This record gives sequence, C-alpha cells and structure tokens, in this order.
Amino acid sequence: MSTHPKYVYSFGGGKADGRADMKELLGGKGANLAEMSSIGIPVPPGFTITTEVCHDYYEAGRKLPESVKPEVEAALKKVEEQVGKKFGDASDPLLVSVRSGAALSMPGMMNTILNLGLTDAAVEGFGKKTNNLRLALDSYRRLIDMFGSTAMGVEHELFEHELTGLKKEKKVKEDTELTADDLKELVKRYKAVYQKAVGEPFPQDPKDQLWKAIMAVFNSWMGNKAVEYRRIERITGLKGTAVNVQAMVFGNTGDNSGTGVAFTRDPNNGENTFYGDYLINAQGEDVVAGIRTPEPISRLHEEMPKVYDQLMDIRQKLEKHYKEMQDIEFTVQDGTLYMLQTRTGKRTGTSAVRIAVELVKEGLIDEKTAVQRVNPESLNHLLLPQLDPKSKNKPVAQGIAASPGAASGKIILTAEAAVEFAEKHPDEPIMLVRKETSPEDVAGMHLAKGILTSTGGKASHAAVVARGWGKPCVVGCEAIKIDEKAGTVTIAGKTLKVGDYITINGTTGDVMIGQVETIDPSVSGDFAVLMGWADKARKLKVRTNADTPADAAKAREFGAEGIGLCRTEHMFFGDERIVAMRKMILADDTKGREAALAALEPFQKKDFVGIFEAMDGLPVTIRLLDPPLHEFLPHDAKGQETVAKELGIPVQKVKDRVEQLHEFNPMLGFRGCRLPIVYPEIGDMQVRAIISAAIDVKKAGKSVLPEIMIPLIGTVAELKILKERAIKLADELIKASGQKVEYLVGTMIEIPRAALVADKVAEEAQFFSFGTNDLTQMTFGFSRDDIKSFMGTYLKEKILPVDPFQSIDVEGVGQLIEWGVKRGREGRKAKHNEHLKVGICGEHGGDPDSVVFCHKVGMDYVSCSPFRVPIARLAAAQASLAEGGKIARDK
Ligand code: PEP
Ligand code: MG
Repeated sequence: MSTHPKYVYSFGGGKADGRADMKELLGGKGANLAEMSSIGIPVPPGFTITTEVCHDYYEAGRKLPESVKPEVEAALKKVEEQVGKKFGDASDPLLVSVRSGAALSMPGMMNTILNLGLTDAAVEGFGKKTNNLRLALDSYRRLIDMFGSTAMGVEHELFEHELTGLKKEKKVKEDTELTADDLKELVKRYKAVYQKAVGEPFPQDPKDQLWKAIMAVFNSWMGNKAVEYRRIERITGLKGTAVNVQAMVFGNTGDNSGTGVAFTRDPNNGENTFYGDYLINAQGEDVVAGIRTPEPISRLHEEMPKVYDQLMDIRQKLEKHYKEMQDIEFTVQDGTLYMLQTRTGKRTGTSAVRIAVELVKEGLIDEKTAVQRVNPESLNHLLLPQLDPKSKNKPVAQGIAASPGAASGKIILTAEAAVEFAEKHPDEPIMLVRKETSPEDVAGMHLAKGILTSTGGKASHAAVVARGWGKPCVVGCEAIKIDEKAGTVTIAGKTLKVGDYITINGTTGDVMIGQVETIDPSVSGDFAVLMGWADKARKLKVRTNADTPADAAKAREFGAEGIGLCRTEHMFFGDERIVAMRKMILADDTKGREAALAALEPFQKKDFVGIFEAMDGLPVTIRLLDPPLHEFLPHDAKGQETVAKELGIPVQKVKDRVEQLHEFNPMLGFRGCRLPIVYPEIGDMQVRAIISAAIDVKKAGKSVLPEIMIPLIGTVAELKILKERAIKLADELIKASGQKVEYLVGTMIEIPRAALVADKVAEEAQFFSFGTNDLTQMTFGFSRDDIKSFMGTYLKEKILPVDPFQSIDVEGVGQLIEWGVKRGREGRKAKHNEHLKVGICGEHGGDPDSVVFCHKVGMDYVSCSPFRVPIARLAAAQASLAEGGKIARDK
C-alpha cells in the first residue's frame, strides 16, 4: 500500500495536530492557530490543508491528491462535533471561513471567503437560530459576493453595482439601513449576477462551495498578484500556500459582540502597552475597512470588562510563549472571546530596537536573539529625518527611493542657482530639482536639503552622491516635467514655480506638493545598547565612505572604524579649486600643469588634515583622482566663455580642449589610474598632499593611518608604476620630516581583469578594496547611469532577480569577488608572507544582503555611507550569528 503524508491538520478545543514551528507546512496562520489552540487560548475549531497539497496540486497539473478528500471530510466532522452543528444543516448550520496562509505573510494575496455553508435553505435556519434574520441574509449576500469574486472570477463591481442601486431605490445611505426584506431582495439580485457571470446557479451544496473555495486558494498561489508580490519581496523557495478552514464566529450579533485587532506592544515606538482598536457589533473587515471609526482598545475595559481582562491575560500569555511582540485578531460573539489570529507584529525600526532590547531585559530572549530580530534596513527609521505622520499632504507622484529620509525645500532648478540662493537666503531650505545631476552640480547639491531628479536610477550620480551624504533623494520621477527656461516644474497637472515648496520622501520615493513638517531622528539609548551587542557578535569591520571632515565625524558617531573610501574628486569643485583645476587641464605642458596643481595642493592638504583629525587613530583610505577630466570643463558656450575669461585665454582654446577630451564612453575612457600614468604630476600632487597632511597631524600628536588607493587598475603593471612612484615620493617626505608615519599603498578591484589576475596584483598591493559599482558595470556591460531604460523590464521579466547595482549579483560578480579575495590572499602570502587586507567600497557595502556575502567570502571590512554604518554593523553581526544557518529577516 502506498503511504502518503498527512495532508490535513486539525485544531480546536485545547488541542492541535500542528505547532508554531511548522510554518513551512501549515503556513504562518495555520501554524499559529494550532499553537494557540494547544496552549489553551480560545480558538474556533478548524483545520489546515498543508502547503504540500498546494505543491502536489501544481505538480499534478492542478489536480488535488486523492487522499485529501477523506482527510478533509474527517477533519470537518471533528469541527462539527466540537461546535455541535452540521455543515449544510438547514435548521442550525455550521458555517466556516476559508483563508489562504503561506509560510511568509503575503498581504492581499487572496481575499478571505467567509460564511461558507450558507444556502437558500440554511439561511432561514441560521436566521431563526440566531433570532436575527437580517444578520443571516447579510452574511449570505456577503458570501455570494466573496465566493463569486474570489473563487469564480465574477467582478466584485457587479455586486457593488446592485448594492448601490438598491440603496438608491430604498433611499438609504448606509448598508446598515437596509432591512431584512431589502437584503432578501439583494440576495436575489446577487444570485442573478452570479448566474449570469458564471453560467450556473450559486451552489446550493455546501460541500461544493467548500471545495471550490479550497481550489480557489490554491489557484491564487499562481495568480498574478501573488507571483508579483513574491518577486518584489524576493520570496523564493516556498512550497505553496496552506488553506485554513475554520468555524465562523460572529462579532455582529448584537451589542454583546464585537471584533478587534491589536498589537501586544506599540508598533510605532515599541512602548510596552496594549495597542489596538475594536468595534462593537461588527465583523472583522469593518475594523480595517474604515467604514466606522473604531474605538481604542483601552475603552474595551469599560464596555466589556470581563473580555478585556481575558484579552490582557492572553496578551501576556502569547508574548511569554512566543517571546515576541504579536499582532492579534479577535472576535467576541455574545460575550465569548475567540482569537482568530496571532503573528509576529510588523513594526518600525524604532519600535523593533526598543522591543528587542526590552525583551532581553525581561529575560525572554538573549542578546544574540535580539540582534537577529531587527531588520538592518529598518534602522533607517532611527537615523534620518522622517515626515511628520500627522501631515495631511498626500503624494502626487512617485519616483525611485534613492536615498532615505524626508526633506522639504524651495524648488531650485540648477546647482549654480542653488549656490546663489544659499548666499542670499542661508536659512531657507533648498530642493534641487533636475533632470539629472553631474559632478559639476555637487556644490549646489551639497547645499540642498534634498534632491529630486526626473531621470536616473539607484546608481545614478544624484543617488550615489546623496546617499553618501545621507541626503534624502528621489530619482527617476518621470511624472515631473522641468522647464528650466520658464523656471517651472509641472507635476500632477499643477505647475510650480522656482521658490515654491516641494517635499520628497527618499525612503518611499513619494513626492508631495508644499511643505511637510519633518521630525528629527533620535538615537535612543536602546539603539546604542543593541549596537553594542551587534559589535560583540560581528567579525567584519565597518568603515565609511566619506569625503569631508564633517561626514567623517558623523560616521564615527555611528560607529565607523575608519574610512574605506575618500573620493578626492569632490574636493576639486568649489570656487577657487575649480579654477585651478581647469588651469591644470588647459595647460599646454607639464610645467603649466605643475603650476596649477601647486595651487590645488594646499586645498587638498587642508582637506586631508581635517579628515585625519576626525579619524584620529583609525585608518583612512584615500583614492587618487578618478573621473575623466572633461567633467571639470563646461560643455555649453556660455560656460566656456566664462572659463576663458576667468583664465584669461581665448574661448577657442577651451572649446578645442573640450573637443579633444570628448569621449564616446567616458566611463571606459581616460579616468582612474590612466590619468596619473599619462600625467604623473597629478598623482604626485595628491600623494604629497596626503603624506604631508599625515606628517602634520602626526606632529600635532594624533595617530594617522593613511592608505593610498589607486583606482581602476586592470593590469599589475599600472599598479606597479604608480605604487613605486608614490612610495618613492612618500618616503622622501617622511624622511625629511623626521616623523614616523606609516602608510599603505593598495588598489581598487573594479575591473574584471584585475579580479582575474588578483594573485599578481596582490604582489604589488597592500590592500584590495572592491569597487563593486564599476565591477558590476563592467561585468554586466551595463552603464551604471543608463540602466533605467531596461532594468524595470529585466526585473519584471525575471531576467535578473534584483538590481545588481543595489545588491551584489552573487552568481556572476560574486564569483569575481570570491576569486579575487582568494587569489589575492594567496598571491600576497606567497610573495610577502603577509595577510592581504580586503574590503569593499561600492554602494553594496551598505546593503545587508551584500554584507552577508562579504562576510562569507572572508573580507576584512565593508565600507558604506555614514548613515548606513549602523545598518552594516547589524547586518555583519547577523551574518556571523547565522554562520551556516539562514538569516530569517522579516520581509
Ligand atoms: C566603485 O566603482 O564601486 C567605486 C566605489 O568607485 P566609484 O563609485 O567612485 O566609481
Ligand atoms: Mg569605481
């Protein structure tokens, strides 16, 4: 005889076949109903059809396994016995609900079907038995609607149309004003709608209803909504959905009934208070639907004191049992309390931190568990200004959430105008609104409270720069039309002028017209406590990408253990510097270039002194100039004239140089290490500035650990030339100073070839830092600034599971990294018998999933923008606590 697995699990009456830890098999809802039942919490009896059935259903080409049927029959019988009613009985019918429930919550995947078991005959009996014909008829018409629209594909609007029509005929506004007779008529009309759409009458056999509803739940697993939800939330590896069939309880039988939803602690701030709403004489959906305003749960104490006390006991019991904050649903029928659901409650980052820390203090969980409980990404909530939740401004457009936090400011359309505006009105907030930004815009960008662009993706210039500064930014908001000449921005049919207020929420991508109040972040004591526990657990160090002393100091406050990337190019903008820089680019010979560079050197040195001071005692990786030179020259006629005037040279000369420097593919052009190879004096100036700044800071009694980083190498020869030149110069300076300054020279690994020959590269490099922005760009052959036109389709069509500029493409780019780390370490060991320090400084260094990958391949550190430092610290801790196991992050 063939054996088959158990397909149906019963619960109710203080017993259950399943347990909370069987989520994979019973789904979250089913597993928790079983658990509640077995710990003596009142739950209406029912049963769960396993996710394996869903899996087998699809394997067999949408056919249920044979043995499900007798198991369901037997389980239904048990429910009938416990409730003392029969399914389909005409005088006193058992009614059931049918709900989906996968291992991970997938809100809105499928609507619930309530009141199953009602038929023309049963509705009469149900009305008599409850002495409430109106309730019976209302339940029946809801069933026809829910069953029709959810299980049989009838448009819900068709039912709504009948309801609205009848209310008009009866001259009433609210559903509740319809009498029993009216509802009888409505049932008739609903049945007609059903028959017309489905081609057969509404089923009068309750078993027929039940099986159709069960199949509908399984079918919904592969419905567009569910498939899309799983894609967006990156949910993979689930068997399917379970189906929960449960005896109905009614919260709308009168004033001694009601229904509510609650959290065992406040999900917004984590406070240990009972938080929720209820409605007297109502059904579950009424609380969420917003038709009536629910009462705060504390008032239930006055209205139903006994039920309230019972609920408070259950709250305690559930938290003690699950050792976690719960989100619960309950119904009171004629004074008797039933729990319909419990699950881990969703919460803000602030709340997550407080709850995790307090649960440790209460002795319910240990520190390591607390560290694993908080989603690193949710820490954003503690670190950035947020929109005041009381604000009434509604979003009018949405772009890509590029850098979190909220900001309101006056619309300014160019970076130059932002600089001018800030000079005149230093206290007024600026929102820089542009099609896109470029390195020329950084001065204006820095002055803005937030940045909004109509094009670009998550790795666009605006996004990367804003993230680096922790400045709110929304990119790719196609709904805004910018007319620079007219000084207007059109959005959602409204035309705003320069100087009008606009607000962005970089956490969600929302754009709002007008000024919205923001609230400042508060780094609470609990947050520091949790971070302390995370630091004890992690192996990866966390550094920051910072280009200014202020950012460096901020990052240090957030726990950065050094700078992993200081991009020096931002230091060449700003009024006086850009003039010297342009002089350098326009110089005819080495001498001219050297003279211009000499003017830049003091600025560079000063910047480095500031950064070294801020990072006293911690390593600072400074990268030599990376971007192509043409980015420092204006491309429009007016700009070129201004530069010619500034430098006292003919306009034609500027034009010629711009043309000469023009590149078809600047990202693959004359940038990175190629610049100092052709113009060694550029590299020399930077090395001199770095080392002499280090000498000065050391002299002043501080500890400096400079790391000179050479960008964009593809061959070991490039690195060797530049390294030897840098060392020679640095050693001369140090020797002359009489100070003992230690420094390292290393390289970025951001060209696939460099990763492939990592063993040789490591012979010349004291450290590696993976520049995964460029590495991703060059491995895929995607221009990082131009992915917007196709990335959406790629993700939708599942060509890629995630945007590889956001989260490391483990399968492809990951191989290069893994190989690079392994071969690099081997090469260094073989030649110098030394450990090669390896880190990452691409945007991925602040992405929790990528941090886990970096931990796995054995990097020494990750580096990310200041505001992501705590996120990376927590992600690194979770990676090392999970070691081998899975990281169960709440989605
Ligand atoms: C990188 O390429 O990953 C990197 C950090 O450098 P940039 O983004 O400045 O090119
Ligand atoms: Mg790079």
